[in-house]
Parts: sequence; C-alpha cells; structure tokens
Amino acid sequence: MVKPMQVYEGKAKKIIPLDGGKVIMEFKDNATAFDGKKKAQFKGKGWFNAQISATLFGVLEERGVKTHFIGVAGDNRLIVEKLDMYPLEVVVRNVVAGSLKKRLPLEEGTKLPEPIIELYYKDDSKGDPMINHYHAKILGISEGEIREMERIALKVNEILREYFAERGIILVDFKLEFGKNGRGEIVLGDEISPDTCRFWDARTRKSLDKDVFRFDRGDLISAYEELYKRLTGEA
Ligand code: ADP
Ligand code: UDP
Repeated sequence: MVKPMQVYEGKAKKIIPLDGGKVIMEFKDNATAFDGKKKAQFKGKGWFNAQISATLFGVLEERGVKTHFIGVAGDNRLIVEKLDMYPLEVVVRNVVAGSLKKRLPLEEGTKLPEPIIELYYKDDSKGDPMINHYHAKILGISEGEIREMERIALKVNEILREYFAERGIILVDFKLEFGKNGRGEIVLGDEISPDTCRFWDARTRKSLDKDVFRFDRGDLISAYEELYKRLTGEA
C-alpha cells in the first residue's frame, strides 16, 4: 500500500500534498520572531503574504526566473510545484539591517557597495546558524548547487530591487529557499513576502514588513496593506 503523503504544518504555512507533483501552500495568520520566542496572530496576514508572493513570483517568471509558482488557489492558498527542499536559507542584502549589524562595523541603513549573500542552515533546534560552502558540502549540497542558488538569488535581487524602486520602496534584504523538482532542476520555492523581506519606504524609511511586529513599530496589517497597494495599485 502506498503511504498517503502527510500535511506539513510549519510556523507560517501549511503544505498540503496534491497529486501530480504539486502541493498547496496555505499561508497562516500566525507571526513568529526571534526563534519563535515572540508570537502573535494577525487576521489577514496570510492573505497578504499569499497575494504578494503570487505577484512577485509572477514578476520573476516573466523575467526568466524558474519558480515553483503555478497559481492562486483561493484567498490564502497558492498551488506550487512540489520541490525537494534544500535545508538552506539564502539571504541577500543591499542595505545594512538586522543581524548584519552583529557582524560588520556598519550602521543600520548603510548602503552596501555590492550585494552580500549569506547562507544559513535551516534547523530551528540549532537556531538556523550561518554556514559557508564547506559546511554546505557536508550537508550533501555541492559547490555547483550552491553557485547556482547564488546566481539565481543575485538575479532575483536585480529584478526585485528595480521593481520595488519603481514603486518608491527600498529592497533592504530578503531570504530565499530553493528545492529540486522532479526533473532535477534547482527551482526557487517557498515565499517572497513582507514576512521574509525587509522593505523600507524610500522617502520616510518606514518599515513595510515584519520588523513592524519584531520591534513593535505600529500596525502590521496596515504596513502589509500599504505594501500590497504599492505593488498592485489595488485598495
Ligand atoms: P517552517 O518550516 O520554517 O516553519 P513554513 O511555515 O513557512 O516554515 O513552512 C513551509 C515549509 O514548506 C518550509 O519547510 C519550506 O521549506 C517548505 N516548502 C516551500 N516550498 C515548497 C515546495 N515547493 N515543495 C515542498 N516544500 C516546500
Ligand atoms: N529571514 C527570514 N527567515 C529567517 C531569517 C531571516 O525570512 O529565518 C529574512 C528576514 O526577514 C530579513 C532577512 O532574511 O529580510 C535577513 O534577516 P536577518 O539575518 O537580518 O535576521 P533577523 O534580524 O531578521 O532575524
């Protein structure tokens, strides 16, 4: 007998298996920060993250980046290609913020001369430590695979930085996750949303992302709604 595939419930999303190498990605209203130590619920957050991710995956696909996105399947659900995920978080940074301040003698808001890529091993029990190519090899991820993920991450950065700049928003930093599809191709997965990126209003430098929750900077849903309106022009 074939074992039925299980629903996976993570901190921010549920992954529901479908036939034919697809899964539903359902975005929850839960928010967590600081390794899950800070938690809250925001009605409507799942909807914004699903719709914003769908919009941004569409932008990337149009410009030639291979993503897992297939379509929107209801308010807070996307249908995506099932991937065998790498246990990695690939972070790209354009401006100093967040944990980078612990590593470099640079002030928050300093523009970097060129983007920085960082790799983190996705393991909550270890607090998602930063790793390098040597560590990745021990995890079974080859140099070639890492280089390909980094190449795609820099391309995503170029596309999205310009896309957001045209809308008066600075793309400060963001996290990507990759996986392999059934044909062995490395594909961009997971989400691209204000939960996983830092977006600053170019004029006021106000956060339009999860930092609003992390650092109690006002109403999270108003910030996500503002971002959504800037992207889609919709109320
Ligand atoms: P976490 O697992 O860190 O709590 P989420 O709540 O966001 O995170 O759960 C989403 C999970 O789905 C993550 O483990 C992510 O790696 C995985 N995932 C993302 N895209 C796909 C995909 N296309 N196929 C299978 N799994 C995916
Ligand atoms: N990020 C994420 N998931 C993580 C860690 C970071 O989506 O588990 C995103 C975060 O939203 C930010 C970028 O990656 O856009 C860089 O995060 P940083 O290392 O500064 O960590 P933070 O201070 O946000 O924990």
